[in-house]
Amino acid sequence: MIENLLNRTKTSLSFEVSPPKTEEEFQAVFGKLESFAALKPDFISCTYGAGGSRAGKTVEIVSYIQNQLHIDAIAHMTCVGFKQADLQTNCEALQKEGIRYVMALRGDRPQAMTDEQFNNREFFYATDMVRYLKANTSLQIAGACYPEKHYEAESFESDLTHLKEKVDAGASFLITQLFFSNDVFYRFKERAAAAGITVPICAGIMPVISAKQIGTSVTLSGSSVPKELSDLIANYGENKEDMRKAGIDYAVRQIRDLKEHGVDGIHLYTMNWPKTTAEIVSQI
Ligand code: FAD
Repeated sequence: MIENLLNRTKTSLSFEVSPPKTEEEFQAVFGKLESFAALKPDFISCTYGAGGSRAGKTVEIVSYIQNQLHIDAIAHMTCVGFKQADLQTNCEALQKEGIRYVMALRGDRPQAMTDEQFNNREFFYATDMVRYLKANTSLQIAGACYPEKHYEAESFESDLTHLKEKVDAGASFLITQLFFSNDVFYRFKERAAAAGITVPICAGIMPVISAKQIGTSVTLSGSSVPKELSDLIANYGENKEDMRKAGIDYAVRQIRDLKEHGVDGIHLYTMNWPKTTAEIVSQI
């Protein structure tokens, strides 16, 4: 339950899943969700593909998680291309399905968006959407945060100032961008606390089980790769099974250390991989 995170009853465990790209994969995702549910997470969040044709799939997935699997579901929602009416329609669709939690994100500028559209967007930042949701819906809101700062932010300090605004506007908990060095996270938490950010923060962990991920998800996230992890990829990257084991082991060590340091929650970026996720959960 998300309450475990909000009340800090225990270190919560949660998963992130994504709507698959093809219809065939989409049909298979429900079986995967059953496997994730068997691991008894406190909640599962589902990403939102901004503007894409798969955008509506997030609602279907979170509805299944909430209503069939009876696990708290968080629907991600990006506002960069949204008008107020779009946002309202999306919220109504979620509330009709009994969804109570959303992850309010600005999102990245879609390639198809012109300068004019981007500069005149209705919601400039995630905080603008948080304010709107607070004023117009009963949804509970999560926000994103960046232990190594968001790539557009002028400085770490300005990013934290804006994060505080997001929390003050109504984000009741935060989930971090993935990171591979716990020290980075501990420093971020200290600085966030000093800035007056006291809501629970879930640590986002992604197991790197193939060298390919470094060129895709990791690069996109902007997260730095410590030498220990790049050495591991250099040593095992060519051997699929060894790399998988080493990547899982790295994530497990990260999580154990975070738990020892009393982290509020562990949020696993599952990449829709139940087997890898199960192996990690069994070791933590
Ligand atoms: P914001 O909080 O709006 O911040 C964006 C930038 O604007 C930051 O640099 C911030 O410092 C700055 N800023 C904020 N307020 C102000 C202000 N008032 N004045 C000046 N600058 C300001 N993307 C998807 O498309 N779909 C997803 O489902 C998705 N899920 C995610 C989940 C998590 C946990 C994370 C960490 C990221 C996710 N993303 C997702 C990526 C996210 O959309 C991008 O990182 C995006 O670039 C920023 O979104 P945000 O909500 O963090 O933006």
